[in-house]
Amino acid sequence: IRYFDNAATTIMSRTALDVYQHVASTYIGNPSSLHAEGIKAKEKLEQSREDLAGLLSVAKENLTFTAGASEANAIIFNSLIWKLQKPHVIISNIEHSSTKEYGRLMKQLGWKVTTLDAPGGFIKAEDLRRALTKQTRLVSLMLVNNVVGTIQDIQALVAEVRAYEQEQGGRKIHFHTDATQAFGKIPFSLETLGVDSAAFSAHKFHGPKGVGFLYNRDPAIESLSRGGGQEAGLRPGTENLPGIASMVEAAKESIQKFSEHEKRVKQINTLLRDRLSFLPTISPEKACSPYILNVATNNLPSEVFTRMLYDKGFCVSSGSACSNNAKQKGEGVLESMQIAPSLAKSSIRISFSADTTIEEAEALAEAFTTLIQEHA
Ligand code: PMP
Repeated sequence: IRYFDNAATTIMSRTALDVYQHVASTYIGNPSSLHAEGIKAKEKLEQSREDLAGLLSVAKENLTFTAGASEANAIIFNSLIWKLQKPHVIISNIEHSSTKEYGRLMKQLGWKVTTLDAPGGFIKAEDLRRALTKQTRLVSLMLVNNVVGTIQDIQALVAEVRAYEQEQGGRKIHFHTDATQAFGKIPFSLETLGVDSAAFSAHKFHGPKGVGFLYNRDPAIESLSRGGGQEAGLRPGTENLPGIASMVEAAKESIQKFSEHEKRVKQINTLLRDRLSFLPTISPEKACSPYILNVATNNLPSEVFTRMLYDKGFCVSSGSACSNNAKQKGEGVLESMQIAPSLAKSSIRISFSADTTIEEAEALAEAFTTLIQEHA
C-alpha cells in the first residue's frame, strides 16, 4: 500500500512509538496520586508540557492536553456557549466539521452566526471586517485548510479584529484558530499570529491518535466538563501520559527535521504538479501547505476514482469527503471556495508526510495517468 492520506492521519514515528511503549510500561502511577509513582508520573507530565511549550515558544501554563483537535476546539466553543448571552460569532465555511458544527449549534441556540466564504480558498480580511459587530465575541478561522491546504493570513485577520476592538474602545473578541494541519508542516509562531487560542492533534504529525492539545491564553475560558480538576480544570480526567509523552516526542522530531521534511515534500509536490499538469489543480501554488495537493479528474466522481486508485494500491482521499453532510446543504468547503461543481465533484486530495518518498509519488503519477487514459 502506498499511503497518500496523511492529512487524515499519519503513521506513528518509530521514536514516538518507543516513547509510548516506554512510558506506558514504566510510568504506572496516576499523576494525581501522592505516592512516589504518582509523583514520577506528574513530573513526566509537566516535563512534557514544558518541552512542548519550548518548541512553541509559549508559556507552559497556556497548554492543555486534550484528546485531539476536535476536543480542543470544543473547549473554546463550549466555554463561550455556556458563559455568554448569545451574542455574535464568526467562523468560515471552510472550517473542519469540529468548528462548523458548533456554528450550527450556536445558531440553534439563538446565537447570531456569520460564516465567511473563502473564494479561491482564502478568507478576505475585508469580509471579516464587514462581519464584525458590537456583539461579536468569538472569531474562529483555521490556519491551514484540510481539504486543499490553503494557508490563511491569520496575523492579518487578527489585526483586523484588534483594530475593530480599538475603535470600540476595548478588548472583547476571542480569536481562535484550528491549527491542526499546520504543526510541523508550515512555519508559524503562535505569538506572531496573535491568536488567543489554537487547536492541535498529535496524529497529524506522526504522534498517536486520540491525543492533542489546546493553546489558550484567555483566562476567561472555562470548561463545561467537570471532574478531578486535571489540566487546570479545562480538561478533567486522568491524563493520557503515554499518549502525551509520545506526542511531545513526535512534536520534537517534526520541529527538528522541519526543513529536511519540507524540502523533500516540496520536491514531491512539484513532481506531482508537473506530472499531473494535464488535470485541473485545485490547491493554489501560493500560500498553500506543500503537504496537501488537491486535483480534479473533471469527469470521474471523487469516490469512484479514489476506489480505482485503491484497487491499484494507493490511498488518497475524495476531496470532499470531509464535507459530505455540509455539501448537501450547499455549504461544502469546495463550494465555499467557488470551485466549479464539475471539479468539486471529481476532486482528489493527495496528502504527504515526512515519510513519503519520490518513488511513491512517481508510482502515483503513473497510476493517475493510466487510469485517466483508460477512462477518458
Ligand atoms: N481540524 C482539522 C483542520 C482537521 O484536519 C482535523 C482532523 N481531520 C481536526 C480538526 C480534528 O482532529 P481530531 O480528529 O484529531 O480531533
